[in-house]
Amino acid sequence: MKAIRTTCAYCGVGCGISATVTGARSVKIVGDKDHPANFGKLCSKGTHLGETVGLEGRLLHPMIGEKQANWDEALGHVAGKMRECIAEHGPDSVAFYVSGQLLTEDYYVANKLMKGFVGSGNIDTNSRLCMASAVAAHNRAFGEDVVPCSYDDLDAADLILLVGSNTAWCHPVIWQRIEKAREQRGTKLVVIDPRRTETAEQADLHVPIAPDGDVALFNALLAEMQARGLVDGGYLANHVDVPEGFWAGLGGDHGVDQAIFAQLADLVAAHPRMITLFSQGANQSTSGTDKGNAVINLHLATGRINHSGAGPFSITGQPNAMGGREVGGLANMLACHLGFSESERADVAAFWHSSDLAPNLCSGPGLKAVDMFRAVHDGQIKFLWVMATNPAVSMPDAGFVREALARCPTVVVSDVMADTDTGRFAHVRLPALAWAEKDGTVTNSERRISRQRALFSAPGETRADWQIVCDVAALMGWGEAFAFPSAAAVFREYAAMTALAGKHGKVLDLTDWADLSEHGYETLEPFQWGGEYPLANGYPTPDGKARMIAVTAPQVQADPQFPLRLNTGRYRDQWHTMTRTGLSPTLSQHRREPLLEAHPEDAAAQGLVEGSLARLVSPQGSAIFRVNITTAQRRGEVFVPMHWTDVMGNGGRGNRLPGQGTDPISGQPGFKNSAARIEPVKPEWRAFLVTREMPEPEGLLYWTRARVAGGWLYELAGDGLIDAEALLPAGDRMEAADHTLGMRRIAVRDGSGDLAAALFLTRSGHLPKREWAAAQLGLGEASAAELLAGRPSTPAPDRGAIICVCHGVGEQDITAAACDGALTVETIGKATCAGTNCGSCRPAITRLLEAVRTREKEPA
Ligand code: SF4
Repeated sequence: MKAIRTTCAYCGVGCGISATVTGARSVKIVGDKDHPANFGKLCSKGTHLGETVGLEGRLLHPMIGEKQANWDEALGHVAGKMRECIAEHGPDSVAFYVSGQLLTEDYYVANKLMKGFVGSGNIDTNSRLCMASAVAAHNRAFGEDVVPCSYDDLDAADLILLVGSNTAWCHPVIWQRIEKAREQRGTKLVVIDPRRTETAEQADLHVPIAPDGDVALFNALLAEMQARGLVDGGYLANHVDVPEGFWAGLGGDHGVDQAIFAQLADLVAAHPRMITLFSQGANQSTSGTDKGNAVINLHLATGRINHSGAGPFSITGQPNAMGGREVGGLANMLACHLGFSESERADVAAFWHSSDLAPNLCSGPGLKAVDMFRAVHDGQIKFLWVMATNPAVSMPDAGFVREALARCPTVVVSDVMADTDTGRFAHVRLPALAWAEKDGTVTNSERRISRQRALFSAPGETRADWQIVCDVAALMGWGEAFAFPSAAAVFREYAAMTALAGKHGKVLDLTDWADLSEHGYETLEPFQWGGEYPLANGYPTPDGKARMIAVTAPQVQADPQFPLRLNTGRYRDQWHTMTRTGLSPTLSQHRREPLLEAHPEDAAAQGLVEGSLARLVSPQGSAIFRVNITTAQRRGEVFVPMHWTDVMGNGGRGNRLPGQGTDPISGQPGFKNSAARIEPVKPEWRAFLVTREMPEPEGLLYWTRARVAGGWLYELAGDGLIDAEALLPAGDRMEAADHTLGMRRIAVRDGSGDLAAALFLTRSGHLPKREWAAAQLGLGEASAAELLAGRPSTPAPDRGAIICVCHGVGEQDITAAACDGALTVETIGKATCAGTNCGSCRPAITRLLEAVRTREKEPA
């Protein structure tokens, strides 16, 4: 069994993986020690990728409506509908909505088909929701979308500012690198974030800004550096264009406590080797581009860029958001960092031969994601092809997007999963290869291109996304331009095309790889285009200078109907819409339900207590969540996750709530500062169900499901009577009920006597421990008395919430070890193993240790 070197499926860190196939659909995953992005480390998501490679829930055959079709029928249908649509309504009636989950080769051919041959700019990507504002900020400041830093700079920096980044959860391997730099070099860490996240808790300084307070803060910081004489006049004179009146426009209230601001300013002043890492918290904003430029302004003005340990560093959310940016997958770019000027269009048309084969090169930018779905909604777009993404869940105002999908005459979805919220609107579903079967390249946040390699052969009738696109292009009559024999051939054409970027003064250059052989592609080692400091020899602008951009703080209009500010984001162990991570029992332990995090005073104002249910309401809609009361939230602000879907429940659909407001330059929607209010929800009963099957509850006020070993755990709440028959499988049934206490318990055993399902319901009391009940699934060990009591006759010690998912270590285990004297993360690791594998739980362990220390200091 030979290890295969590939790349993680999830975030933009782009960790290398060494995968050893151990069975038909099983694989052992470890970090690739030789990959420069992670040097062998993986976080919890990467570590448990092996739990997601089974064929459960996969789409394995083309489907037209609910009927299985063969590829010829399905592709013929898609090409026919697209041709009809173009003929009757023009090329702009057709759109592709693609994804940072696609490989660069997939992206390249999709972009080529739409912009070069269909003749519309209407291809946009879910990266629009992720980092389009950083792209726009780079373009404004540098003249090209170029990230000027590398991960090595994190090791060399003396000060790291994290802006809008819960790095410990969302980019855990970068977090581990930061932790190491702090331990070894004493690097200072500042976290600028409205929330006191696990990342913020570990920082030397947490700056709890107001939502969208970043521009005001960075303007004030720059003014302060100027006042302290720290602006680098020489660098500005030689390398930066500063607009007139720039310095006078920096004033204004930053809204941060003066003492905290002074500490921040002192740290920034004292540490010229400074990296500012900014992420979705900054980008997902109606002022996201200005935020990016406010950060870049500070670095340009102080000359903290283009050398070791210094620079503004945007990190991407998705594994291949960068690859999409490079080939031109955003609607406002033509291809390979080129725009739509006459000469750029002429060069691209000649390269693609679209002028001879199809005189259709698009004339200008297409619609960005939010506008694209508006155009679907109002009927301008009549054919939509969604690839590898789930906009019915992930777009803001997702209810509106669902209406748009329902109205669209033709929706095609290429996906790996048979049942997704978006797939439910599809007229045609095309089965794509999943992560473990795909072959191609991805680019990570530091511009490093790595190979993703297939671990398994294609199951069922699945095909590579690039192949599906080429097949449709051929049926449209453009086969000659899409006759790629392999993914390597697509990569070669893309690499060759970057010569045009160089011709137009851009930095993007992969021409050294344009003649790569099949073997060279197969054995390609990770490489970083542009080297460590791609802008060090001048900026790709007409005069070679970067641009400072005057930016002003946005104003937010208060709405008395919706007095709270809503922020949405990720959980540590889940990914996007949970179609993969939701399959992992291990990853599902960290957060089994979607939580509404609220400050104690906001919760108390609504009579909410910990663990109760609340409805979160915005002008766009509402959704029910489990309440988590925490001082990590500022008063007046609430947080919910973005992961939950119709497939995983009717509760917690966070993305129905933000509105359609976008950044005017980048078109990126604002997910972090929406108007909302909370209302208590008081169901007549609460219940949970553990079951080996996967029922679809109907008519309930609230339900969610989470994967557990051997089955599913459902949380349920409702009014009136529960329809237990609809939830439970057939089998031998045992039931206990106490109508005075409002309690009902049902256990169902299969023919072998093993537990197939158990339902526990209460109208006023407590429910049993979920972990014990879930652990009984498929076993015949628990007695009828134990099952109906909801606990073993000899109870095991309560281990509390699982903190370390790799080793199954609970909160109580860690607290007990701490009370026995293990007061560092390392000694906890020795005592319990917690935190010794992927390390994603180390911030949570630190938090627990802090709580123990605080308790010990309190007077008895
Ligand atoms: Fe994958 Fe985690 Fe690495 Fe991101 S940090 S690429 S999710 S292993």
